Amino acid sequence: MATIYQWAVIGAGPAGIASVGKLLDNGIQAKDIVWIDPNFTVGDFGTRWRNVPSNTKVELFLKFLYASDAFDFKNCQEDFALKRAPVNKTCELRLMADPLQWVTHHLKEKVHAIQDIAETLKLDKRTWQIKLRHAEIQATNVILANGAEPKNLPLSAPPIIPLHIALDSENIKTACRSEDTIAVFGSSHSAVLILRNLIENCSVKRIVNFYQDQLLYAVYLNDWILFDDTGLKGPTAEWSRENLHGNLPDNLIRLHSNEENIEHYLPQCDKVIYAVGFNRRTLPVVDELAHMKYIEQTGIIAPGLFGLGIAFPEAKYNPFGMVEYRVGLWKFMDYLNRIMPVWLNYAP
Ligand SMILES: Cc1cc2nc3c(=O)[nH]c(=O)nc-3n(C[C@H](O)[C@H](O)[C@H](O)COP(=O)(O)OP(=O)(O)OC[C@H]3O[C@@H](n4cnc5c(N)ncnc54)[C@H](O)[C@@H]3O)c2cc1C
Repeated sequence: MATIYQWAVIGAGPAGIASVGKLLDNGIQAKDIVWIDPNFTVGDFGTRWRNVPSNTKVELFLKFLYASDAFDFKNCQEDFALKRAPVNKTCELRLMADPLQWVTHHLKEKVHAIQDIAETLKLDKRTWQIKLRHAEIQATNVILANGAEPKNLPLSAPPIIPLHIALDSENIKTACRSEDTIAVFGSSHSAVLILRNLIENCSVKRIVNFYQDQLLYAVYLNDWILFDDTGLKGPTAEWSRENLHGNLPDNLIRLHSNEENIEHYLPQCDKVIYAVGFNRRTLPVVDELAHMKYIEQTGIIAPGLFGLGIAFPEAKYNPFGMVEYRVGLWKFMDYLNRIMPVWLNYAP
């Protein structure tokens, strides 16, 4: 008879890594966990965003690594640069990606890891049937941690420079010519990093930044951070204050992203970069579940089916009553600590 795993985790980015760690910490035996990913290289965090400066301080990355006993990071002898970095400073994301790769190898040796892509999911007799590209497996509970893709806008626009190229201070140079006018949509951390990249690393003719929302800055209060998930932080916030507050560099204009401005200015641009958020990666889920939403405070999609990570972020109200979608590695871990007792008792 085919094995029915107690838990399947789909995706091995930071959210999948945290999920496997916390299942083990909560007493689920390694033989009862199956972990699926096509690469096991720390997801987009470990591949696409390696050369992006973090908005998180080093101490929060370290807190994540020590937060799961199953990670066994306290016994890790590798001399990772993260261990030597100043704890109250930000860093390039690769400093965190390298230890996460170490944790991935460590966890893969414990649980049953399958290098494959999950294609469909179907509930049959209270068990999830997971069709992979090359096999079929069964599990009582499933955690979807399959990440998200950058959004593009449905505009008739010039060629797109993909977000991961635009955010990389080296790669962006090869995507732009000095005679180019580049459109950048957005005003988030990513959008400001891209403006800085274009201004400091590429001498393009002109940059047109179309924005919808104001620039927000994280405010560190006694025991919480206002605009923690949406606000600019660290060196990016400093750069933004120095360059975008009525003192724009000569080759940059900022325009409200309305129809009139887009119609007038976008045709003058040679390339466009969208930094306007992310869409959840879809898994062709069979039957009525395709239309079900996840509960934003618990990650529950259905009994025995849960979502975590950038695809299913926790919605949390701050003390001023504003909702923020919590995306960040330590936030995934903190959320898991609170919701795992629910997930362990919510089988089909
Ligand atoms: C520019 C930028 C800067 C950021 N800076 C920070 C920061 O400073 N600090 C911080 O904490 N966070 C930061 N983040 C957020 C953080 O990087 C993301 O939230 C995090 O990487 C999301 O992790 P994830 O595991 O949800 O998704 P991903 O990292 O995308 O991983 C998803 C995994 O699922 C796999 N997968 C997808 N589909 C399938 C399938 N069908 N079957 C099997 N596997 C599948 C993929 O191969 C991948 O390995 C930043 C994000 C961006 C974009």
